[in-house]
Amino acid sequence: MADRFRAMVIDDRDGKPVAGFRELVLADLPDNDVLVEVHFSTLNYKDGLAITGKGRIARRMPMVGGVDLSGIVVESRHADWQAGDKVVVNGWGLSETEWGGYSRFQRLKAEWLTRLPAGFTLEEAMAIGTAGYTAALAVQALEDWGAIEEGGSEVLVTGAAGGVGSVAIALLAARGYTVTASTGRPETHDYLADLGASGFIDRNTLSEKGGALQKERWAGAIDSVGSTTLANVLAQTLRSGAVAACGLAGGADLPATVMPHILRGVALLGIDSVMAPHPRREKAWALLAESLDREKLARMTQHEPLSRLPELAAEIVAGKVRGRVVFDVA
Ligand code: NDP
Repeated sequence: MADRFRAMVIDDRDGKPVAGFRELVLADLPDNDVLVEVHFSTLNYKDGLAITGKGRIARRMPMVGGVDLSGIVVESRHADWQAGDKVVVNGWGLSETEWGGYSRFQRLKAEWLTRLPAGFTLEEAMAIGTAGYTAALAVQALEDWGAIEEGGSEVLVTGAAGGVGSVAIALLAARGYTVTASTGRPETHDYLADLGASGFIDRNTLSEKGGALQKERWAGAIDSVGSTTLANVLAQTLRSGAVAACGLAGGADLPATVMPHILRGVALLGIDSVMAPHPRREKAWALLAESLDREKLARMTQHEPLSRLPELAAEIVAGKVRGRVVFDVA
C-alpha cells in the first residue's frame, strides 16, 4: 500500500474555499470503519461548484472533494464488509461534511457503502455516478407516480446534454418512452439522437417567463435546470402528469404558480440522491442494470486522469461538459 498518496483537498483561505492537490498519509484519513482503495471517481455539477469555489459545498475544512467513488475494501472493522469487496459510494454528504472520492484511499462509514451492482465494472459505476443514479431515481419516481407508461408517453428532459440529462435520455428511450431533449447546444443533437432522443427544443424557449397554464405537451419531465425552465415545464405538463425536479443548473428559484397543480393535478416530485435510503438506491441501480445500454454509456463518457480535475470542474460549471466524466484515481 502506498505510504503517501494524492488527494484533492479544499481548504479555507481567508473565508474562501480553495481546492488543490495535496499528499496525504493513511493517518490523515477520518477514523471510519472501512478503508477503501479508490479506483475511480467522477465529476458532477456539485463537484464543479466545490472545486472551483463557485458554490459553498464543503461545510467543514479541510475537506477531500468528490461526491462519488468506486473501489475495493482494504481493511474493515465492520462485519458487513471484508477486504476484497468491490464497493460504490454515492452522496451521503461526501465532499460536504464527509471526506470524499478524490483520494487514492478513503475511510468510510459502513452504512454509506453499496456493493458494486452486478453487471457493472468499477469504472462503469463511476461513468454512471451520482448524475446517472439520480437520472434513474427520477425515472423511477415518474413511473411509481403513474405519470408515464412504458411504450408510449412523451417525456421531456431538460439540461439534456449534461450528465443527468444524458443518462435520463438513454434510460427513457430504452424503456420505450418518446423523449424530447431540451438543450442550449444544437451541436449535441446527433449525440442526443444516438442516446435515444427523437425531438429537440431550444432551451431558450423554456427560460423566458411564460403563462401559468400553457399548451399541454409532456406526460412527464426530468428537469436539471430549475427556475423559469421548471415553471414552464410544469405549465406544459399534461393533466395528471408529473415533473421530477433534480437540479438547479439554471437557478435555484421557482417562479411558478399553483395552477398546473390545482387545475391539472400535475405533481412536482423532488429527487434527493444524497440521503436516499438504501432500498430506493437499490431499485435505481436495478433500473440502471436493466435499462442502461453499456455501449451508449461508453459513448457518453470521457476518461480522464485526476490531474485534469481543476480544468474540468471549471468546464462543468460553465455548462461545457457533455455527458459524463470518469477519473482514474489510481
Ligand atoms: P451538468 O453540468 O452535466 O448538466 C447540466 C446541464 O444543464 C448542462 O449540460 C446544460 O445542458 C444545462 N444548463 C447549464 N447551465 C444552464 C443554464 N444557465 N440554463 C439552462 N440550462 C443550463 O450537471 P449534472 O448533470 O451533473 O447535474 C445537473 C443538475 O442536477 C445540477 O444542478 C446538479 O446540481 C443537479 N443534481 C442533483 C442531484 C440530486 O440529488 N437532486 C444529483 C445530481 C445532480 P445543455 O447544454 O444541454 O443545455
